Amino acid sequence: MSEPAVVARLARELTAGLKAGDLEDFYRDLHRHPELAFREHRTSARLAGRLRGAGFEVTEGVGRTGVVGVLANGDGPVVWLRGDMDALPVREATGLDHASTVDGVMHACGHDLHVTWLVGAAETLAAARETWSGTLVVVGQPAEEDGGGAGTMVADGIHERFPRPDVLFGQHVTPGLAGFCPHTPGLMMSASDDIDVVVHGVGGHGSRPEATVDPVVTAAYVVTRLQSVIAREVAAKESAVLTVGQFHSGTRHNIIPAEARLALNLRTQSPQVRERLLAAVRRVVEAECGAAGCPVPPEVTVMPGCPSTVNDTALDQEIAAVHRELLGAHAVPDFGPVMGSEDFSRLAPPGVPYDYWFVTATPADVWEAAPGEDLAEKLDHVPANHSPLFAPDLSVLVPGVRTLVSAALSQLT
Ligand code: ZN
Ligand code: ZN
Repeated sequence: MSEPAVVARLARELTAGLKAGDLEDFYRDLHRHPELAFREHRTSARLAGRLRGAGFEVTEGVGRTGVVGVLANGDGPVVWLRGDMDALPVREATGLDHASTVDGVMHACGHDLHVTWLVGAAETLAAARETWSGTLVVVGQPAEEDGGGAGTMVADGIHERFPRPDVLFGQHVTPGLAGFCPHTPGLMMSASDDIDVVVHGVGGHGSRPEATVDPVVTAAYVVTRLQSVIAREVAAKESAVLTVGQFHSGTRHNIIPAEARLALNLRTQSPQVRERLLAAVRRVVEAECGAAGCPVPPEVTVMPGCPSTVNDTALDQEIAAVHRELLGAHAVPDFGPVMGSEDFSRLAPPGVPYDYWFVTATPADVWEAAPGEDLAEKLDHVPANHSPLFAPDLSVLVPGVRTLVSAALSQLT
């Protein structure tokens, strides 16, 4: 481990010759050709090609469409740099020259930028291998958006087939005036669980409700009652979100249907709160169905999504110090944990430290034009991840490479 200032200076020197135009072309090509989760064939081939060209030993098809590149460069720690590759079912509305050419699919979360950063960092570190020692592993992960990709790579033996990490790094583009690199030690992203609920009533004619058990009304009570769970069962100092994202029932005006289906999403920041809220959801659903006289108990199915992301505190502080030297102290704020979720932490074997941070990328003119006095107000008025208008500023291409390169160099002695 070297002094943050020394690491930052070396990262700046090594990336001084980076061809921004080449990275921009690579990025625009990925942006024009977005691919949904587990269909990242073209994207992973592009990444694999660049890694091979830089001298990495490359394996494709890891966890279906994932890519792993290994550069063994003498004794020292094993550092993993991870980027996700999948796009979203969003119809792009940016009007950019390099907008998506695939109808209804868009890189609306910036994973094309993540892949480009990986390429820039991998090529920089490979070209400068005389300056460091250890093993660099570059991971192109599929299917972050549906929460399955990291787990699929682990199930496919990524920890056994490739050098096991001593440390892992990842970064995500996020709204905010371009050029900042927010870091949060400890808990930084929430756990996310999807929950399916099926309410079984008794169907019948719309004119004779007395002969039915109406699942629409019952499910409506469930939805309403669930709104008080966070308000009344979670301590004020804790954070959690419970959203009913889908409510499906019925076929026409004069039929009382036999069942109603709800789809819930739960975000929590501690295992205790998660368990308590999952129990509360079950309790509310079962009690409302009991109150309505449903003939069959409801079904509540929990589909565990992403675990929480908990940065190693010492490691995060070390990398944040390097990034402060790199970008200036003002550019590395700590906004605390967010309710967003990631499956990045699944790639870390138990007990292995990792660090994950954000890179802000809202173009300066868009940020200035956004109404609001402070950061929080402006954030509500600029296109965010998953928006059809999400358009990161390409000025962050090289800085994003530098943050990855400097983090890797801080560990690669
Ligand atoms: Zn996303
Ligand atoms: Zn994302």
